Amino acid sequence: MKILSIETSCDETSVAIVEDGRKILTNRIYSQIDIHQKYGGVVPEIASRNHVTKLPYIIDDALSETHMTLAEVDAIGVTNGPGLIGALLVGLSAAKAIAYSLDKPLIGVHHIEGHIAANFLQFPELEPPFLTLVVSGGHSHLVLVEDYQTFKVLGRTIDDAAGEAFDKISRVLGFGYPGGPAIDKAAKLGNLDAIAFPRVFLDKSEYNFSFSGLKSAVLNYINGMKMKNEPINPNDVAASFQMAVVEVLVKKTIDCAKHIRMDKICMAGGVSCNSLLRQMMTEEAAKAGLSLHYPDPILCTDNAAMIGAMAYYNYINGVVSDLSLNGIPGLKIGTR
Ligand code: ATP
Ligand code: MG
Ligand code: FE
Repeated sequence: MKILSIETSCDETSVAIVEDGRKILTNRIYSQIDIHQKYGGVVPEIASRNHVTKLPYIIDDALSETHMTLAEVDAIGVTNGPGLIGALLVGLSAAKAIAYSLDKPLIGVHHIEGHIAANFLQFPELEPPFLTLVVSGGHSHLVLVEDYQTFKVLGRTIDDAAGEAFDKISRVLGFGYPGGPAIDKAAKLGNLDAIAFPRVFLDKSEYNFSFSGLKSAVLNYINGMKMKNEPINPNDVAASFQMAVVEVLVKKTIDCAKHIRMDKICMAGGVSCNSLLRQMMTEEAAKAGLSLHYPDPILCTDNAAMIGAMAYYNYINGVVSDLSLNGIPGLKIGTR
């Protein structure tokens, strides 16, 4: 079964064709990063307008790369939430128009379930159940994937998402947007023990996260140094901050897996590109005897192939949408 999928929840305009939820035939991604960079973050209205102008061409690209016509596609998958409402509606309108005009099934996909499903593309043998650390621009979740349709959130951030913290700290250090890749790079040149930033574990028996206290600690450090007229080494700040985030993410994930007796863990979302997170999670999972999977970076950040993978599992489990499918900015995981 070949599903054409569309992802426009934020600032990537992406169209993919995925076969049977596992095989990428094409995954075209147009990133608007250059456009939003000068504003220091994504401007929703500008994102929507760019989706409108670019999406038709990207659909054409995906079809021409695979030498397919729309008539040869079996179904249309589309992200319907969570995300920016204007941005979501662009992809959704296109998906509905294609599904209606060709009389093909329309399948709504939860963006975060899509991030998790990126693992199915990278690892064709991987099957639930497994525990996933989802860390992205807007989410930090520990999700137990019981089967292809049952997602249980065991922990979540009570304030900022991990990616949001990376983006904010990058901005104050002058590294710009998006912050994650910039901090990752700068941290390689810095000393991760240089500044003792707090590790926020909250109640140790809980799997929730909090990053706003760490963010304030970094800002206080920077302001304090400025007031004392002392020099700041941005690479040291980046390295120390990154270590404070990663240590908590890794410890909570491993503790949670042990607690629920789950020996398979995955990572998903843009922050799972982070090189220190990949390295430390690999080491700690090995020590604990857990298997670990995470996709290539291009499948961790926003892309339509992950939406096509999840759309397939929705479809074969009877979860098909109709033309009343709407964009839902705050769509909860496990709901449609
Ligand atoms: P969500 O999926 O929660 O709706 P989003 O779609 O904006 O949010 P993603 O595309 O999954 O998020 O990921 C983007 C985030 O990943 C950004 O916050 C970015 O800074 C972060 N990121 C990307 N690469 C890295 C990296 N190497 N290290 C840390 N963070 C990274
Ligand atoms: Mg993006
Ligand atoms: Fe995302």
